[in-house]
Amino acid sequence: MSIKALDQTYVAGTYKRFPVEIVSGKGSVVTDDTGKDYIDLTSGIGVTAFGIADDDWQAAVTAQIAKVQHMSNLYYTGPCAKLAALLCEKTGMKKVFFSNSGAEANECAIKVARKYAADKKGADCFTIATLKNSFHGRTLTTLAATGQAHYHELFQPLTPGFIHIDPTMESLEAAAGEHKLAALMVECIQGEGGVVALNKDFLTAARAFTEEHDILLITDEVQTGNGRTGELYAYMNYGIVPDVVSTAKGLAGGLPLGATLLGEKVQHVLGFGDHGSTFGGNPVCCAAALSILSRIDGALLSEVRAKSEALRRLFDGAPGIESVTGLGLMLGLKTTKPAADVVSACLQNGVLCLTAKDKVRLLPALNIPFELLQTAAEAILTACADTQ
Ligand SMILES: *Cc1c(COP(=O)(O)O)cnc(C)c1O
Repeated sequence: MSIKALDQTYVAGTYKRFPVEIVSGKGSVVTDDTGKDYIDLTSGIGVTAFGIADDDWQAAVTAQIAKVQHMSNLYYTGPCAKLAALLCEKTGMKKVFFSNSGAEANECAIKVARKYAADKKGADCFTIATLKNSFHGRTLTTLAATGQAHYHELFQPLTPGFIHIDPTMESLEAAAGEHKLAALMVECIQGEGGVVALNKDFLTAARAFTEEHDILLITDEVQTGNGRTGELYAYMNYGIVPDVVSTAKGLAGGLPLGATLLGEKVQHVLGFGDHGSTFGGNPVCCAAALSILSRIDGALLSEVRAKSEALRRLFDGAPGIESVTGLGLMLGLKTTKPAADVVSACLQNGVLCLTAKDKVRLLPALNIPFELLQTAAEAILTACADTQ
């Protein structure tokens, strides 16, 4: 049987795949089973932060695999401790809980918010407000947090205790009047929701309001984190400091790792036995993340911003492109043609891109060479302008 037939027969049918089998790659170029190359503007949905089979990343991973690939969290291991220290040093957060995915990083953030609020304000203070059109994951609790009804329909009943509000102070204040709020959880830039950046005035005012009322502010940086938006974490573009930050996708450059960063106020909320994960903080994943995070420095971040500006110069006002949204190397293009048509035309022409709602979404590796980005952008421009 071909790979395609095996997959269609035996893999649960949850993914509508493109008719392409990727067999290898290097950096921002991947190769399919027929030998055709593609410029990759997806990076595994913002995961392979330094591209495929990056040399430093590969060396860090293989060196750690040869030493110890896993120990339980009953013992100390170097990569986990060093990564937690580096995350705290780079953000000012105080402690880190490691898990394996974005949904799990959010689950931890939600558990921290519930325990903090219960300890401080009583067991009836548990409601978490999230934004309409948000995406926070696929577990029953993070689905409940997700502010898009179509994800909910098939899986009732979901975890109670979530409300979905508009990104306005009126709706936040109304929610705080009607419910005992433990936390407000937001994506600074909604990814799956169509690359929609939060308004700066709203986030600034929401931070002041949550601070004043001792409501935790959680930023879900699963997609926006780890250099993606041109700052280490997207909240840094907004001049605010959240109480809890969740992240995953790009953190370990292609291995599964989630992290929940706990600020001053919540650093002692989790005690012995309050939470756990068998694989969380795995030494290979943490060694991979150390290789990634230690290279997301000022120079890399300004390169990300420069690439973003170069793309915006090419796309702004181009034929068939109605608007450009997002920040850094997380960009959304509202195209005149259906986004899916643009993406399949690009695929034909050797460029991989994503969609998000009605947008074409671009999430290239942070270190993609300028020339490849330029070539890929030209293919997108052609696909958008093409009138046949
Ligand atoms: C992808 C994503 C998640 C879920 O991450 P998984 O690793 O798939 O569990 C959660 N929140 C945001 C903002 C995401 O983009």
